Amino acid sequence: MPKTHHVIVGGSIAGVSAAVAMRQNGFSGTITVIDAEPLLPYERPPLSKMADAQQALRPIFPQEHYAEHGIDLLLSTRVRRLDDDRRRVELEGGDSLPADRVLLATGVSCRRLGVPGEELAGVHTLRTAEDARRISAALARGGPLVVIGGGFIGLEAAAVARTAGVDVTVVEAGELPLLGPLGTPVARLMTRLHEEHGVHVITGQTVRCFTGGTAVEEVVLTSGRRLPAATVIVGVGVTADDRLAREVGATCLNGVVTDQHGRTDHPWLWAAGDVAAHIHPAVGSRGRIEHWDVAMRHGAAVGASMADRPTVNSAVPYFWSDHYGTSLQMFGRAQPQVRVVLRDGATPERFAAFWLRGNRLVAVAGLDEPKTVRAAKAVLDAGVPVSAESLADPSTDLRALSRGPARQTLSSSG
Ligand SMILES: Cc1cc2nc3c(=O)[nH]c(=O)nc-3n(C[C@H](O)[C@H](O)[C@H](O)COP(=O)(O)OP(=O)(O)OC[C@H]3O[C@@H](n4cnc5c(N)ncnc54)[C@H](O)[C@@H]3O)c2cc1C
Repeated sequence: MPKTHHVIVGGSIAGVSAAVAMRQNGFSGTITVIDAEPLLPYERPPLSKMADAQQALRPIFPQEHYAEHGIDLLLSTRVRRLDDDRRRVELEGGDSLPADRVLLATGVSCRRLGVPGEELAGVHTLRTAEDARRISAALARGGPLVVIGGGFIGLEAAAVARTAGVDVTVVEAGELPLLGPLGTPVARLMTRLHEEHGVHVITGQTVRCFTGGTAVEEVVLTSGRRLPAATVIVGVGVTADDRLAREVGATCLNGVVTDQHGRTDHPWLWAAGDVAAHIHPAVGSRGRIEHWDVAMRHGAAVGASMADRPTVNSAVPYFWSDHYGTSLQMFGRAQPQVRVVLRDGATPERFAAFWLRGNRLVAVAGLDEPKTVRAAKAVLDAGVPVSAESLADPSTDLRALSRGPARQTLSSSG
C-alpha cells in the first residue's frame, strides 16, 4: 500500500508549521513541502527591519529539522496547477505528485500600481529575501528613497533608510499612513514619529507615473509634483495567491474560503496562513490576517486538523512592527466603529492605545510599552468590563483590572 501523501504548497511559516504539526499529531504518511523560492524557508519580518539583507536572512528551522520530522522539501519548484480528477499536484516543468490532501499555504503577492514606468530599474516591491537584497544594495548607494504607500512594511523600510541617513519621502493616498490598521489617533502618533526622524510624508496623493532612462529618476504624483528618486519601494497592499484553488472551483473571496479547521469546500483541499479567508474566533468575521504569529499558529492548527486532530487557532491575533529601535506591538484588531482611547501622556516615541467596544477591550497596542501591552492582553482575555477613564489613567493596575471588579477591590484594599 502506498503511504498517504500530504502535499503542502508554500513553504513559508504557515506551510512549515503545518508540516511539523502533522507529525506532532501522529500523521505517519509522506509530507512534501513545495516552494517556488530557492532558499531554506526563512523569516520574512526581518526583511524590512534591517539594512543588511544578509543579516536579515534567518531560516525558520535549520535544515536538519526537516529531516528529523520526515518532511521532504522541494525548493525552487512552482506548482502550476492542481489536477482535480487525478488528485495530482502538477509542477512547472511537467512533473506531478500524487496527493491525498493538499494544503495551500501560498500567501500573498504585492499589488502593483499599474502606472507607466513601474518596470524601470530601481522600482521595487518587498516580499522576498531577493527583494530585500536588491533594496539593501540600492540604498547602500544612497537616496533619495520614495516609498509609495504608508503601510507597515513601507514605513519600516523608511525607518531603516532614514537611520542610514538616506533622504526618504512617503507618499500615502489616504489621509494618514497606517490609518486603516490603527485608526486616527495612533496613526497620527506613528506619522509624527516618522516626521520627527526626518521622513517627508505626503498624504492624499498617489502616483501618476515614474520617469527615467533605464532606471527611475522621478516619481510624478497625481498633483503633478515631481519627486527625485534613486530607489522606490511600492508598498500598496497585497493580493491573495489563491489562483490554484480558484482554478479547481474552490470558493475564494479575496483568499481561499475555509472552515475553522482550514478545510475548503473542495474535498482534498485545505488552506492556511495569509491566503486563507477564515473566521478567526477572536475576530468573528471572515477575512485574511497578514501577521506572522497568526500564520504560524493557524498553520499549526490546520496541520493538526489534517492529521485528523481537529484544532482551532483561537489565540488573539498578535503582530509587531519595528521603527527606529522601538517596537509597536498589538493584540486584537482595530475595528471600525470602535472607540480608541490613548493612555494619558502619549508621545510619538512611547504610547499605549486601547480599542473599546462598549465596555469591553477588543484590542491594545503600544509603542515601547511591552509590559502595558501584556497586562492589557490579560484584560482582553478575561473579557471583564473596563472604562475608558481607567484605561487612560497611567496609574491603573491593568493586571488587577483583568481579575475583575471584585478582585480589584480586594487587591486595592490590600
Ligand atoms: C517584509 C515583510 C515584513 C513583515 N513584517 C511583519 C511583522 O513585523 N510582523 C508581522 O506580524 N508580520 C509581518 N509580515 C507578514 C508575515 O511575514 C506574513 O503574515 C507571513 O509571512 C505569512 O506567512 P504564509 O506562510 O501564510 O505566507 P508567505 O510568507 O507569503 O509564503 C507563501 C509561500 O508560498 C510560496 N508559493 C506561492 N505560490 C506558490 C506556488 N504556486 N508554488 C510553489 N510555491 C508557491 C511562495 O514562494 C512563498 O514562499 C511581514 C511581511 C513582509 C513581506
